[in-house]
Amino acid sequence: MLKPYVLKPYNIPNPKKIMLKFKCKDVGFECGFVAKGKTEDEILSQCATHATKDHGMKPEEITDDLRNQIKANIHKSLF
Ligand SMILES: [Zn+2]
Repeated sequence: MLKPYVLKPYNIPNPKKIMLKFKCKDVGFECGFVAKGKTEDEILSQCATHATKDHGMKPEEITDDLRNQIKANIHKSLF
């Protein structure tokens, strides 16, 4: 017996599969770093780690201003 053909809802985005992405170069760095996560907080913490480790920034240099800039440049994408 063939299984009944089930239409897959390709056009309906599954909220569980939506990823947030942030590209470091979108805030002006010459850098190929991309943060990926499910929440803004995940992205922000990855960015904080990246900025201190790879851009030599001090934690106190990661200001609310910079966080807001990051948030403004977070893009949603499907897996
Ligand atoms: Zn970077």
